[in-house]
Amino acid sequence: MTSRRPSHSLRFIIVGGSIAGLSCAYALREVGHQVLVLEQSDGTYRSHGGIRSPPNMTRLLNYWGLGPALAKVSMKGSQFTFKDGESGDTMGLLILHEKLMKALQAEFLFIQHGDLHTLFYDLAVKNGVLFRYESKVTTIDPWAGTVTLQTGAKFSADVIVGADGYKSVVRPIVVGPQALRGIKDRRVSVNLTIPTELMRQDEDLAPLAESSEWTLWVGDNCCIHALLVSSKREYGMVIHLPFPLEGVDEHWNEHISIDDLAQRFENYEPRIRKLLKLCSTITPTLHVIHEPFDNWVHESGKVVLVGEAAHPLMPNGSHNAALAVEDAMTLSTLFALPLTPAQTPLLLSAYEELRQARCAATQASERQKRDFVCLPHGPEQRARDEGFRQARKRALLDWDEADEDFLRETWEEYIELFGFDAREAVEDWWTKWGGAMMRKGDIGGGHGEVEMGAGGVGGGERRVQAPTYEVSVMRDGVMV
Ligand SMILES: Cc1cc2nc3c(=O)[nH]c(=O)nc-3n(C[C@H](O)[C@H](O)[C@H](O)COP(=O)(O)OP(=O)(O)OC[C@H]3O[C@@H](n4cnc5c(N)ncnc54)[C@H](O)[C@@H]3O)c2cc1C
Repeated sequence: MTSRRPSHSLRFIIVGGSIAGLSCAYALREVGHQVLVLEQSDGTYRSHGGIRSPPNMTRLLNYWGLGPALAKVSMKGSQFTFKDGESGDTMGLLILHEKLMKALQAEFLFIQHGDLHTLFYDLAVKNGVLFRYESKVTTIDPWAGTVTLQTGAKFSADVIVGADGYKSVVRPIVVGPQALRGIKDRRVSVNLTIPTELMRQDEDLAPLAESSEWTLWVGDNCCIHALLVSSKREYGMVIHLPFPLEGVDEHWNEHISIDDLAQRFENYEPRIRKLLKLCSTITPTLHVIHEPFDNWVHESGKVVLVGEAAHPLMPNGSHNAALAVEDAMTLSTLFALPLTPAQTPLLLSAYEELRQARCAATQASERQKRDFVCLPHGPEQRARDEGFRQARKRALLDWDEADEDFLRETWEEYIELFGFDAREAVEDWWTKWGGAMMRKGDIGGGHGEVEMGAGGVGGGERRVQAPTYEVSVMRDGVMV
């Protein structure tokens, strides 16, 4: 795809500086816009939890040039292994065959949340994105295009991007009463981290400290899955348990007792019990299931949602970060098109149109897969396990030897998920609608150079004018 530049530089405010916010900030800046990120935290916390970067995400990270940095901190996944939680026997396998991965043109990677956060943060800073930490947004005026912080300071922008996650304050402004409708998930998800140096001292656990597998132990109404992150320094485990679990809220920074957790797994295979004893961090999260929201863009055409704010997924799925990164690629590719500022609402509508069906389908698929590996013991679970065993025999065959029906049955849905290219989706849309939009709009040309904010694209060569976002600030308790 040709790399484009918009004819005008817009001012974006991004509320929230996690994966969705940082990737949007970097990507919008990269195509020539001015970007300010407002983040409520002080920006120093890095989560140790594991993230899967499926090929649809890795492909975009590679496009942004993150490949070499990613190679240093990620692990290439080779297969998904399904084990019986109690006996530890391998029941099922999904091998990421080399030929398949070649066709997908990107790897399935395991990466630590904190490492990905740092990669995006560094890239955004290098490209001149502005950051304000300890800046909790409390109010948004979608028609005026302003956001107000808890401190009272007010900022204005051409576009406000709500990247403020699962409990977004921007969401209700855009979505309306639908934001309040939701049902508590039947399961809670617990994130655990184990230092691999401790695992290497135990002969049963040492092989796991080198393994490129994503291992899933399936049990009664429960599933544990784990993978290596952070250059094999940590083993990131996730447990999906039935709710209620005491002391659990919808946050990523609350902790529960390991002893409470361990006693639930006394009948599990020895490696699970040993792993639980070695945990260094435990973070539980609860999830509220929302039907897909009708609107992601406010009718003012100035406020848009991305990431978990737009499509809250159950925690620790395979596509939480991937969908956020796809959102960022979609938005930035659209905002690189040569349209006028007056056409901003049109671009935001295109973003909504391009993303909603994809995200809804992925949300549903993720939930269905999680429930499948968490079946309570009974006839359905026995049928599932038998299916795993049959499929395992065929999975061990070479890709060329496997029969077509088996490959289609196993891979059709994954290929749909992994093969999606967010840039291509915008290109297809532009091929269809671009001509009409170019005729309708007051396009490019006479508007001259893109005005760059502080830093300029690619590290600060083309500084023209520092962006102005502040409308009013608090000084000595007085609004000025
Ligand atoms: C601290 C943290 C740790 C996480 N760790 C993991 C992990 O280990 N594994 C995993 O799979 N997923 C993790 N997640 C979730 C993961 O980031 C998301 O599922 C996904 O990557 C998409 O993220 P997001 O940026 O849309 O939302 P989030 O990651 O939830 O980020 C939202 C951001 O917005 C900020 N914010 C919220 N409200 C306001 C406000 N009013 N004003 C200003 N800023 C605001 C938050 O502080 C946060 O930084 C974590 C999320 C957070 C916030």
